[in-house]
Amino acid sequence: MTTKPLIAGNWKMNLNHLEAIALVQKIAFTLPEKYYAKVDVAVLPPFTDIRSVQTLIDGDKLKLTHGAQDISVHDSGAYTGEVSGPMLAKLGCGYVTVGHSERREHHGETDELVNKKVKAALRNDIRPILCVGERLDVREAGDHIEHTSSQLIAGLKGLKAEQVGQCVIAYEPVWAIGTGKVATPADAEEVCAAIRNALTEKYGEEIAGQVPVLYGGSVKSSNIVDLVKQPNIDGALVGGASLDAEEFTKLCALA
Ligand code: PEP
Repeated sequence: MTTKPLIAGNWKMNLNHLEAIALVQKIAFTLPEKYYAKVDVAVLPPFTDIRSVQTLIDGDKLKLTHGAQDISVHDSGAYTGEVSGPMLAKLGCGYVTVGHSERREHHGETDELVNKKVKAALRNDIRPILCVGERLDVREAGDHIEHTSSQLIAGLKGLKAEQVGQCVIAYEPVWAIGTGKVATPADAEEVCAAIRNALTEKYGEEIAGQVPVLYGGSVKSSNIVDLVKQPNIDGALVGGASLDAEEFTKLCALA
């Protein structure tokens, strides 16, 4: 377990910039400053909200960190519609999710592309949250550890150990995302422990101990406690429940 749990709220393609401001204000109001000594909290809004969220967080000196949900592999140039690492860094992004299953599924993102995005984030001093996890058919075939470990190793390919130490890994079984079917704490721990072991084997115990390994998939205030009790689960990547200030802050306070 890394020192403090990290709870990151993935807003996906929800909330315009006015709604984003209202949500961050509610989170700040409901989660008093003292909690941030015990938990790191990040919000990952859509690109169009980031500037508003940044202004609010900086202006009110809030303890929240903000980030993005995707990053271009290129730093600048003729790539219409893309958003680059330097742009996100200028917006104060501390994190970016990379390889989320929705991007792998709907945008055809391969392990090779995900690896380039991890590198783009690190090149711009943004911590990548590398998402890995199996579909239901893979779990049913009993290949979930092998599949997830292979996504992990491919996503981190070519990185130096100290760069790996800057990454966050999110184990997100695809069958648990947005379905209300949370993995049992034992099932989540089994894969998170395998991730930690793979990191230890390849990069050493010190680096493996620095990398937060999060669980994601239908996390709520009612299940967070048993998940973060597991020795290799260092927090959560939260989708649906991060859009409700009351539920999200409750979850953060319990983590
Ligand atoms: C996610 O989108 O990363 C996620 C875990 O979603 P949910 O919490 O809604 O399952």
